[in-house]
Amino acid sequence: MIDMMPVDPTKQIFLGWEEWIALPKIGIPALTVKIDTGARTSALHAFAIEPFGSAKKPYVRFGIHPIPDHPDVEVFCSAPLVDRREVISSNGEKELRYVIRTPARIGDLQWDIDITLTNRENMQYRMLLGRSAIDERMIVDPNNSFHQEELSYDLYGKLKKARPIDRPLRIGLLTREPKNYTSRRIIQIAEQRGHVCEVINTTRCYMNINAVAPQVMYDGRALPRFDAIIPRIGSSITSYGMAVVRQFDLMGSFCVNKAAAIGASRDKLFAHQILAQHKINMPITAFAHSPHDTSALIDIAGGAPLVVKLLEGTQGNGVVLGETANAAESVIGAFRGLKANFLVQEFVKEAAGSDLRCLVIGGRVVASMKRQARDGEFRANVHQGGDVVAAKITRAERLIALKAAKVIGLGVAGVDILRSNSGPKVLEINSSPGIQGIERATGADVATKIVEYIEKNVGPKIRSKRGRKPTPEKITEAFAEPGTAA
Ligand code: ADP
Repeated sequence: MIDMMPVDPTKQIFLGWEEWIALPKIGIPALTVKIDTGARTSALHAFAIEPFGSAKKPYVRFGIHPIPDHPDVEVFCSAPLVDRREVISSNGEKELRYVIRTPARIGDLQWDIDITLTNRENMQYRMLLGRSAIDERMIVDPNNSFHQEELSYDLYGKLKKARPIDRPLRIGLLTREPKNYTSRRIIQIAEQRGHVCEVINTTRCYMNINAVAPQVMYDGRALPRFDAIIPRIGSSITSYGMAVVRQFDLMGSFCVNKAAAIGASRDKLFAHQILAQHKINMPITAFAHSPHDTSALIDIAGGAPLVVKLLEGTQGNGVVLGETANAAESVIGAFRGLKANFLVQEFVKEAAGSDLRCLVIGGRVVASMKRQARDGEFRANVHQGGDVVAAKITRAERLIALKAAKVIGLGVAGVDILRSNSGPKVLEINSSPGIQGIERATGADVATKIVEYIEKNVGPKIRSKRGRKPTPEKITEAFAEPGTAA
């Protein structure tokens, strides 16, 4: 409950647009706070935000660097979790944040406020006080600062400085194929680097959808909290897989690819629309369900020869070249008869049966290879008999790959590019790229890059109370994997 007392005019206080604030209950003696009546909710800029406790009594712990220019001063706090709330931050991004309730003190006034925790440490003010924390007792003077008692960062001098330590991470590999090359490599590298990596079979997860303390259940047990999740969701279970990833995301795990981004990349139509919106060059493409006007469709794609693709196809299946208008029309007729969603696309002939696969991890192209179709085949997929070699990519190719992964929102992505006479064109973006072909062709250690990407995003680490490294106990090994193929 927000502490609302009848207003005594002699107890009214003036607040400047910036003030000093203390959050005594969570051990923060002084912070400068920006009074931001343009925002509804108050926010604290924290790091290593980590929920813990039971579903009935959830808590959250987090660290803050209270002094903007002194990242060496760290305070770790914990507080009961009262809510999770979707907040639109000043840059327009939607974010689901943990909400704590704690007393705040400015000058002589102490009252309870709700504060959302957000991981945006680059902000100048560690805290914003939004209008929901401001009541009738407070009069905000937007033209002046520090109407109330000024505190000092010296108050932190007495606090013992906690040093961040390396902590083994609990990483969940969400896959139904624990034995394939990509899974084996990721597990091997994660373990080599001291982490615990558990294989979680996506379809064996079931969920407790709960606003404050979401859980993922697995064979009758609630899974513990994972620091990070690597989703490798097969296309046949995209929608369920996305729900599982979303649930882990809600539990505060760092998901290398978030559910929405996986969904956007899987839906070729949606992905094309996003890429087009961001002016990313692609082959000219027309989408259709069951149009009667086949010739208009062919015209949009620039006439024959053109490529007709089933939207649900993968690995080159359902990708057909219509060399003449007649051939194209009959393929379109066949797809139409199947009542399938398909697209008709300009054939980039000069790509000559080859495409580029760029592997993007955390905003970097970490490896790239060229796939070459076998003779007489225009599809370069390995599953269609294509061959792979390491490729040196141009700056334009690198930039378009990075931009494509960024606008779709993928941390780890395989971006396929065609080399056309008018520059690189993005063909497709894959959210669960296999790493076998590209590691073998290029010698790059992609698995390590994935684990490093997680390490970079999950830290800094919180010192455990006793100062020793808390090693997560491996739990899913206890669950037998029925019928997993070797
Ligand atoms: P999939 O998702 O099934 O792999 P793609 O759209 O990636 O389908 O197409 C498979 C292959 O066909 C590509 O790797 C590329 O070599 C070739 N290809 C696809 N579209 C075109 C096109 N518009 N022009 C030239 N070649 C293409």
